[in-house]
Amino acid sequence: MNTGTQHPRGLYTLFFTEMWERLSYYGMRALLVLFMVAPAEKGGLGIDEKVAAAIYGLYTAGVYLSALPGGWIADRLLGAQRAVWVGGILITIGHFTMAVPLRETFFLGLVFIVVGTGLLKPNISALVGQLYPEGGARRDAGFTIFYMGINLGAFVGPLVCSALGEKVNWHYGFAAAGVGMVLGLVQFGITRSYLGEAGREPAHRSDTVGRDWMLIGGVSVAGAVVVGLALAGVLVINPVLLAKGAAYVITMLAVLYFAWVFQFGKLTGVEIRRVAVIAILFVASALFWAGYEQAGSSLNLFAKEYTVLAIQSLNVELPAGWFQSVPAFFVIAFAPVVAHGWVLLNRRGVSVSLPAKFAFGLILLAVGFLVVAIGSKRALTTGPVLPTWLVATYFFHVLGELLVSPVGLSSVTKLAPQRLVGQMMGVWFLATSLGNLLAGIYAGDVSGANAAAMPVGFMQVFYFAGGVGLLLLLCAKPIRNLMKGVE
Ligand code: GLN
Repeated sequence: MNTGTQHPRGLYTLFFTEMWERLSYYGMRALLVLFMVAPAEKGGLGIDEKVAAAIYGLYTAGVYLSALPGGWIADRLLGAQRAVWVGGILITIGHFTMAVPLRETFFLGLVFIVVGTGLLKPNISALVGQLYPEGGARRDAGFTIFYMGINLGAFVGPLVCSALGEKVNWHYGFAAAGVGMVLGLVQFGITRSYLGEAGREPAHRSDTVGRDWMLIGGVSVAGAVVVGLALAGVLVINPVLLAKGAAYVITMLAVLYFAWVFQFGKLTGVEIRRVAVIAILFVASALFWAGYEQAGSSLNLFAKEYTVLAIQSLNVELPAGWFQSVPAFFVIAFAPVVAHGWVLLNRRGVSVSLPAKFAFGLILLAVGFLVVAIGSKRALTTGPVLPTWLVATYFFHVLGELLVSPVGLSSVTKLAPQRLVGQMMGVWFLATSLGNLLAGIYAGDVSGANAAAMPVGFMQVFYFAGGVGLLLLLCAKPIRNLMKGVE
């Protein structure tokens, strides 16, 4: 029995599993774009930057989009524990597939990771919640610890994978990500019993198990055929067009979903207002991630092309991907500071509303882009600039993240009508997915052959994110009124 502030042992099982999973995810992601754009003589795929950024967008969007079926499968068929296990196995297969130095295995590996992460990521978070059936402050504290696990992995992953991938051989970097996930699986297997009954069985076991499995089988076979045809070159896919098409489809899905809920969801007056708030925050969240997740695309290319990486006194050149660890480091360093800040503000009777937090998040994101816009403008005239520009950019982005990300999920659980919480959470993941996709599409437009596009592109993000942030700040009060009763 756990009392007081002591946490269930299962939290540590989940903490370390997610740490290893994020280590593999962010470790590989640090290499992804750099590997694709590297010329063949440097072991890369020699893909154009615009196309590489679109593939990055499709892949990272896919990872979050597959959380929808992943959650559904766990809820109805597998239970969260087994979904995490199977997901981890698929992710491992994906990374090791990428370790094989062929173009085809690279893309096949990405597909495995998308499917595996869809099974693992939403369900491991749900398991954290289930360890604290009573909810409340202890659960919040549990999630904070869990978020540290995420970022510990996100910090170490790029350090290891980039050192190996960029400096020795790209495929060693991918294999290292696979080793990380294997360690996560071993650890999960050994300590799984700490989870007890949490997520052992499906939350709402399906009445139509056979039919559900047939559906999954059918979709998997259809998916395998499409992937097979694409890899064989029979089906020619244009990643830039596909990414743009996918962005429209995801946006339409979200619009239709909200229209449907408003029209047919039998919402009461209060519920209509609260769901309207979720819809507004959905837009803010998608926009935030569209800027933030350029860490792995345009900002990664900025690190590679426009940042001084050489430390002359030591006669070494840092891997560009090491900068991918900086945001995670800032999260670990500043999450406790920000959390303490809220407590202090509360004590003084100041409470910052949810829309205001999102507004400040967007404004901080904008400031980060202003910094990197100036940095890249300088780089164009003077050559590569000091790493401080990128580090300062990530500093502002992480402060923004700490305002947006931790409150996002919990606010949906509070604002959504109880009977719709599950689907609203799914829709919330759509915003992250859309954001990642836009981060890829946009990065493709600002990087690439035309170097002058970078500062102009970053300035556009500054104006847009800053403008929307200010607008949201102006509307914070009326939005707060819509929320009535939810803090
Ligand atoms: N960095 C967090 C994670 O990896 C959140 C990422 C996101 O929601 N875009 O879980």
